[in-house]
Amino acid sequence: MTEVQLQEIKLDPDSELRFEVETKNEKVVLEVKSGYAELFGTELVKGKPYEFHTGAKVAVFTWHGCTVELRGRTEVSYVAKETPMVVYLNVHAALEQQRVAAEHENTRGPVTMVVGPGDVGKSTLTKILLNYAVRMGRRPIFVDLDVGQGHISVPGTIGALLVERPASIEEGFSQQAPLVYHFGHKSPGDNLELYNMIVSRLAEVIAERCENNKKASTSGVIINTCGWVKGTGYKVLTHAAQAFEVDVILVLDNERLYNELKRDMPKFVKVVYLPKSGGVVERSSTQRAEARDARIREYFYGNRTPYYPHSFDVKFSDLKIYKVGAPSLPDSCMPLGMRSSDALTRLVPAWPSPSLAHRVLAVSFAPSPDDHVLATNLAGFVCVTAVDMDRQTMTILSPQPRPLPDTVLLLSDLQYMDNH
Ligand code: ATP
Repeated sequence: MTEVQLQEIKLDPDSELRFEVETKNEKVVLEVKSGYAELFGTELVKGKPYEFHTGAKVAVFTWHGCTVELRGRTEVSYVAKETPMVVYLNVHAALEQQRVAAEHENTRGPVTMVVGPGDVGKSTLTKILLNYAVRMGRRPIFVDLDVGQGHISVPGTIGALLVERPASIEEGFSQQAPLVYHFGHKSPGDNLELYNMIVSRLAEVIAERCENNKKASTSGVIINTCGWVKGTGYKVLTHAAQAFEVDVILVLDNERLYNELKRDMPKFVKVVYLPKSGGVVERSSTQRAEARDARIREYFYGNRTPYYPHSFDVKFSDLKIYKVGAPSLPDSCMPLGMRSSDALTRLVPAWPSPSLAHRVLAVSFAPSPDDHVLATNLAGFVCVTAVDMDRQTMTILSPQPRPLPDTVLLLSDLQYMDNH
């Protein structure tokens, strides 16, 4: 372990300072003293201290050279001269050309999908490309299809955001009015039918919104995906590519996936192979679980800006909780005109029981289970913190004061232990 209390580091042009904060309850402060630097595409303000907490894995890159100061204890910290940033900048320049052409010809801007196995820097590349686009005055749409480690809402959802300013260093992209759809599991494989259905729905809604927002439409879409790329995972990716009618697929660090996509995608889809950054840090399943937990905690309690959620008891009889997916029967046992796979996207009432404790519930905008609940944007989330079978009540953690809206609640597999 290296112990750094205060360090001034000079970075040459085209190099980056990488560091990780691992120690529990540790805080590291970074400040640019001179020159220009950026963090995953967001420019850092000279003289402004930025705080990083436990779990942060960061790269401060500079195109022109700079001096930075690092205060606090980092587990790892080193300067790397080899980075793929020039390649990523070229990708941005190519996308920008397509945006200019879209503006002139009054067509749609590039729809780009970033794919690759786990821990190759898909989310980071997505962020860099969005930041570069918005810094050029564009308004791209960010789509996150990663239900395990997504960056739009809580895990177990997919979503989209209109990006109007660069990501904040501490809090990421501004979360104003995101489109969020319920999935309820952390891998698409847990309910493929449902996953493909909500991906198609999200693509449809974005296409509709782009028709009414020319700026967003010419700026294009950048889609982050899950790291599941083999077998059925590959089919999930090609389905998403079709649903969003992608123009460009950026494949990070996987030649097999690159060749498969080149073979299977229509000719007008540009499939581009990109190297991964040597700085991308692999995460263990425990770290992934912790990251999921942290996202749910952040939803209820905030990050830099603290939120104060409410906790209250609700009678079982006042709740309409459903889970998605009825037990599947063979096709021969299904009513006429229905397939057994239809059952996977059906809502089934979830009866209150102690097993609901610590589960996340998605709050739908739909008032009743017949109202296309799964195709409807989510209003938010609550978490069941306790179930009292004797009193027939549940204790609910919610960003809103009571009462809960009279809408459908969707049960998620994801759990959150509220020990705040
Ligand atoms: P997943 O499959 O889990 O979604 P991913 O492929 O999207 O992973 P990222 O989340 O982009 O990978 O990156 C993994 C981790 O590596 C992140 O914590 C990110 O901050 C860190 N990271 C990315 N690029 C660098 C870099 N150049 N230097 C240091 N850390 C980096």
